[in-house]
Amino acid sequence: MKENPKQLGCKTLIDAVPQIGGDCPRDCGSKVGCECYGKGGKFWAPTDVPLMPTWKEAEGKIVRVNSYYDSNDNKGLVIETVRKAGWEHFFFNTCVPNFDFPIFVPRGPTADFGYRQAPVVYTCNGGAWNEWNFQASGYCYPYPDGREPDRLPPNVMYVRIRTNTWMVRSQDAMVGHYLEQDVPVVLTFLCYTDATYIPDEAKKDYGESVHVTHRYWRPTSLAMIEVVRRYKGTGVRMCGTPWSSACVDCLNCELLYWQCMERMKTCQSP
Ligand code: SF4
Repeated sequence: MKENPKQLGCKTLIDAVPQIGGDCPRDCGSKVGCECYGKGGKFWAPTDVPLMPTWKEAEGKIVRVNSYYDSNDNKGLVIETVRKAGWEHFFFNTCVPNFDFPIFVPRGPTADFGYRQAPVVYTCNGGAWNEWNFQASGYCYPYPDGREPDRLPPNVMYVRIRTNTWMVRSQDAMVGHYLEQDVPVVLTFLCYTDATYIPDEAKKDYGESVHVTHRYWRPTSLAMIEVVRRYKGTGVRMCGTPWSSACVDCLNCELLYWQCMERMKTCQSP
């Protein structure tokens, strides 16, 4: 299988997209100029066939299911396809606050047979206006420790916040909300195809360059550092680094996957 250019040199991650169907049906950021690479043929692989690594290709790796498209879209097919693939390590991606991803495993975290919840990355802001989906409104399985049901369950591997340099106050609110729940937070800096969406006061923070496969207006390294330093000492991470968007230079997904698996050993609901 061809490698995602973002994952070149990264021996621990591999992409999968079980659904077929061209552009992602969701509309994330179109009204604010930061449409996702799931639109307009920007995804790095063909989208008219499922992207499914073989068991051999995924051996020893963690499969990132739905780096484009949403794992809650056509969810029955997504879960069934992953089950049949038989990969050992994988996590889902969604912008829908429904974290119920039961997977049958022959050997779970407690070395017994049965269902367990799979790790899932939750992108908490999206939609055409990049708005925050504040409530975990979907099904969240109950907590053995009695926590409120609208708090994120332990299989949320991390919360991804779509970030720019001028909406820092609302980003602060999201960061605070999830840190208070002890959920790992990763900032993903948005890229813009059209610079007219970048407010005048933020134009100095952006430059045009290639990101993965296409040219975008992207925040400069300095601008990213300025945003990230707001959260110094809190454990907040960013997707990539201020100098590189390559997974091999970041490895957050790998680290946070293993942390999530550990967390679920103690918090997993029956
Ligand atoms: S958080 Fe890091 S490892 Fe995960 S997708 Fe982003 S760059 Fe890759």
